[in-house]
Amino acid sequence: MNQVPHKLYLPEDKLPEAWYNLRADMKDQPDPMLHPGTGEPIPADALKGIFVEELALQEVDGATREVSIPGGVMDYYKTFRPSPLCRAYHLEKALGTPAKIYYKFEGNNTSGSHKLNSAVAQAYYAKEQGLTALTTETGAGQWGTALSMACAFFDIDLFVYMVKVSSQQKPHRLSVMRTYGAEVIPSPSDTTEIGKKILRENPETGGSLGCAISEAMERAAKKENCRYVLGSVLNYVLLHQSVIGLETKAAMDLLGEYPDMVIGCAGGGSNLGGLIGPYMRDKLTGKASPKIIAVEPMSCPSLTRGRYAYDFGDTGMMTPLIKMYTLGSGYIPHPNHAGGLRYHGMSPILSKLYHDGYMEARSVGQRPVFEAAKLFARYESILPAPESAHAIRAAIDEALLCRETGETKTILFGLTGTGYFDMTAYNSYLDDTMSDYRPSDEDLEKSFATLPRL
Ligand SMILES: *Cc1c(COP(=O)(O)O)cnc(C)c1O
Repeated sequence: MNQVPHKLYLPEDKLPEAWYNLRADMKDQPDPMLHPGTGEPIPADALKGIFVEELALQEVDGATREVSIPGGVMDYYKTFRPSPLCRAYHLEKALGTPAKIYYKFEGNNTSGSHKLNSAVAQAYYAKEQGLTALTTETGAGQWGTALSMACAFFDIDLFVYMVKVSSQQKPHRLSVMRTYGAEVIPSPSDTTEIGKKILRENPETGGSLGCAISEAMERAAKKENCRYVLGSVLNYVLLHQSVIGLETKAAMDLLGEYPDMVIGCAGGGSNLGGLIGPYMRDKLTGKASPKIIAVEPMSCPSLTRGRYAYDFGDTGMMTPLIKMYTLGSGYIPHPNHAGGLRYHGMSPILSKLYHDGYMEARSVGQRPVFEAAKLFARYESILPAPESAHAIRAAIDEALLCRETGETKTILFGLTGTGYFDMTAYNSYLDDTMSDYRPSDEDLEKSFATLPRL
């Protein structure tokens, strides 16, 4: 057999034409979103006031297995997809492992991450509906950048609430978003009531995703022809991100490979949910049983130390109630550097799968993560995003385990993005000023106390 190439780009005739809705293969569906006032499930109609109509429909549709990718979305996908499936030969050799390491690289676009996969779809549906503006939040800045790109292309105004600490750590992210025409507001801000309230209570706060979401929702509610969109967590985002897993599976099939384990970093769960789609389907239908591992930061351990409960998606308690693993919507993570993973909750789909034993989770500290990032950059040439480096850490640990046991496992992980805008974080690792922050049980209990009582 020919040697596997370092990089494999799927040929055009093998590209997925439809997204895959994982829920269609789940016998036990995730619990529905509830109205916080009545405690009743929210019908799609009610979601249309907050969300883009088509996205609201996708959100509540647990039955349709395949959703055609619209031509307008496909046309933009062609500017940056397919993304390559890579074999980490050099890293394998450096580790001295008999394991085969594959990774799907989603960072080859200006946003530098997988977020563009869903941003394009969301801006497309907004345009189709005749909306003229969108609001959103961004943590590390990747989602805001991706949506700025998509909104510029489809000619939609965009207001981005960016977590303040990130906007300070990554000022160049702001410049990129502005270049694409977005208005960026560091959050909490005085442009919304909730922002003002949070600032009054805690003037020094660096903000959080939950708080930025509240501000973005408030802004959208007050503006005509405007809706709020979200870059992770929600079911419709996982649907769009399934393109990652579908391409990966098709490429692995071409190579005659099947992973023993699939690893991804988990912030709100969108890249992991997208990557594992076809493999989780095999697991749900009893065809195969790959190990599936979510990797989260020790500082924001929603799966490994959170509660599986109904909670708000935001600090201001404006969203519907979502059943998920959560640290409590009041949780403000330590301002460390895994920006894109600093969310208190987790995708309801992944939460359900984790709860039902279909996947595992582990948390890792900042320093081991950056150690893995540096090693990976050296041998695989790509400078990874800190978020992605959580998955790299776990993949390396698994490969080192194989070195001990002599097992030739096939490891697949998601390399979600590049870290060019994360050099403050890299500096802090290189200067040895980085810490491995771990919240105490007391910190978490305090935050669990904010969980809504149903
Ligand atoms: C946003 C982001 C993540 C985390 O978000 P998920 O929704 O959990 O995928 C991971 N990596 C990168 C590069 C990101 O931008």
